[in-house]
Amino acid sequence: MNRSVIADLRSDTVTQPTPEMRRAIAEAQVGDDVLGDDPTVIALQEKVAALLGKEAALFVPSGSMANQTAIRALTEPGDEIIAHEDSHIYHYEGGAFAGVSGCSLRLLPGRYGIFTPEQAAAAVRPVESHFAQTRLIVVENTHNRGGGSIWPLEHIQQLRRLADEHSLRMHLDGARLMNACVATGLNPAEYTKYFDTVSMCFSKGLGAPVGSVVAATRATIRRVHRFRKMFGGGMRQAGILAAAAIHALDHHVERLADDHANARRLAEALDQTPGLSVDVDAVVTNIMYIDVAPHLGSAADLAARFEELGVRMLAIAPQRLRAVTHLDVSASAIKRSIEVIRQALS
Ligand SMILES: *Cc1c(COP(=O)(O)O)cnc(C)c1O
Repeated sequence: MNRSVIADLRSDTVTQPTPEMRRAIAEAQVGDDVLGDDPTVIALQEKVAALLGKEAALFVPSGSMANQTAIRALTEPGDEIIAHEDSHIYHYEGGAFAGVSGCSLRLLPGRYGIFTPEQAAAAVRPVESHFAQTRLIVVENTHNRGGGSIWPLEHIQQLRRLADEHSLRMHLDGARLMNACVATGLNPAEYTKYFDTVSMCFSKGLGAPVGSVVAATRATIRRVHRFRKMFGGGMRQAGILAAAAIHALDHHVERLADDHANARRLAEALDQTPGLSVDVDAVVTNIMYIDVAPHLGSAADLAARFEELGVRMLAIAPQRLRAVTHLDVSASAIKRSIEVIRQALS
């Protein structure tokens, strides 16, 4: 990281592998994972399957590929997917739901990236030849554009009942599932048991350089595996990446609580800074949105000023910044960031 950077809060994807993680990478035993004999990839997949309470798991290059191989495995062209209008699969995956799975999305509104089981029930289409076939419900937990929000477990349970009534499948975009688990104290399996497929990212707050995973039944993972190959996601000596993911699961899960505490501290301080406002109560994990009063200029102007101070954030709308805490942002870096921002805006 550039020495003048106090805190890079643009995303939790910017984390650098720690020295210990680099050592795990260097020492990893590898094979050819496309031929199925990379021992470290196999170990990671077994570890994740056990952690998420599923029969099997498959390591994939990115969270987008994890979501899209799962969606492809659970749907047929012409099917419809119920999802939140702010969901990652809709905004940030290149239109893959349509491009690679041939599906339409039935988008539902709701604060913090959360829709209700009643909304979903009303969106299920009758089984009749005029309509697209509703096939899948996607839940994102924690919710990225929703501000790192956590889905209520009761909503998920009710959605599962709805899905069973209508023979629908459910996918969990759990890119940041571990953030939800650390914040609530729930075991991952308490969320995942309601879903046919689950994706999770190692390259967000868990701090690995590359990689995500899909977990499901053995039969579903066989389908996901075929689509991973079809999409070009087979990797050979992938154990060097899997070793980083194993290290992340062993050492970087509990510490997500620090990121949440840092986010809360930053949110409170920014909300008390004239011209900035943050929905502080909504900051329950590691993501926050900061509304910028017009007299301070645009969010992009302010991001450029903050950058000069050494605090990096993303302007995600004309008057809105995003800040995300992670492994490479310490409590003292947060303290320092608050000081320089307050000084600059006073
Ligand atoms: C980051 C993220 C993904 C995956 O993104 P990639 O950049 O493809 O790894 C998926 N879902 C959510 C909610 C995310 O935040």
